[in-house]
Amino acid sequence: MEPNIEWDNVGFSIKKTDYMYIMKCSSDDEFTQEGELKPYANIELNPAAGVLNYGQGLLEGMKAYRREDGKMVLFRPDQNALRMKDGADRMCMPCPSVAQFVDAVKQTALANQRWIPPTGKGSLYLRPLILGTGPIIGLTQAPEYTFLIYTTPVGNYLKDGVNSEFNLYIEDEYDRASLGGTGGIKSITNYGPVLRPLAKARAGGFTDVLYLDSVSRKYVEEVSTCNIFIVKNNIISTPPTKGTVLPGITRKSIIEIARDQGYQVEERLIEVEELFEADEAFCTGTAVIVVSVGSITYQGKRIQYQTDTNTVCNKLFSSYVAIINGETEDHKGWITEIN
Ligand SMILES: *Cc1c(COP(=O)(O)O)cnc(C)c1O
Repeated sequence: MEPNIEWDNVGFSIKKTDYMYIMKCSSDDEFTQEGELKPYANIELNPAAGVLNYGQGLLEGMKAYRREDGKMVLFRPDQNALRMKDGADRMCMPCPSVAQFVDAVKQTALANQRWIPPTGKGSLYLRPLILGTGPIIGLTQAPEYTFLIYTTPVGNYLKDGVNSEFNLYIEDEYDRASLGGTGGIKSITNYGPVLRPLAKARAGGFTDVLYLDSVSRKYVEEVSTCNIFIVKNNIISTPPTKGTVLPGITRKSIIEIARDQGYQVEERLIEVEELFEADEAFCTGTAVIVVSVGSITYQGKRIQYQTDTNTVCNKLFSSYVAIINGETEDHKGWITEIN
């Protein structure tokens, strides 16, 4: 049955879909028990659950797309699985194997397939979580863990064939990540603290916040949920992911696509001042895919960038979408079909 939803107006609010995936394990195990699909519903937690008290939790984010020919696809789900493994290690949690993870996201997407929007109207966002759900009062690892995946349909940022643009505010009061911290993994503890700077930026009319390194406040790191790139004289640069920048799968894929097209791509420290000399800037992430930055504001100075269809950003965005839609051959094995 078709869900009661206007596909032209999916937006970004959470919608209750049909099924969620649940797999449990105790702290001394790996995830050896079978996972299962259950009707989407509230979950019950002990008030002393590790995740509620000490933030022992990780998230992932990925999308299932419907192609013109009816095929339903995921983009590099193995990469999300590997990233979750790194995060689980840092957070002292067990983690499903890559095979378990990929099988679970496929099952979950398939079970909710009627919620995958028609081609071009958006995607089904999948949110895998690992949560310390066992009760604990002393500060130590939770005695039980839950791997959970829920889904919600989301619209795309695409408007009239061109991505709408980001207007960024450079934050020099709050930090997102620090050396030795958890900025390089998708720990749930990274997101609550950015709500304040985000609220401040949005109140000023900006789309999102661009964070600087927390030591010198001199180098560009990333945006709240996406990575940043700049383009100068056709050379593409992006900050390295050495612990304080989240290693985005879109980031990594866009670097590869750009190099394949002959662009020089540099992963290097980028000083704030360089933003004022760049020809172009763009952000990458599962939610936005690739989005132009229209402006960046730093200490009262605003720089404006070109965002027309002729940008490097738009070329890379089109190449990425062509792989998703199956218009270019998937030479790299990035696409996983779910049906
Ligand atoms: C998830 C995330 C990204 C983007 O990663 P993708 O794998 O491309 O979706 C970038 N920065 C932060 C802080 C994130 O949480």
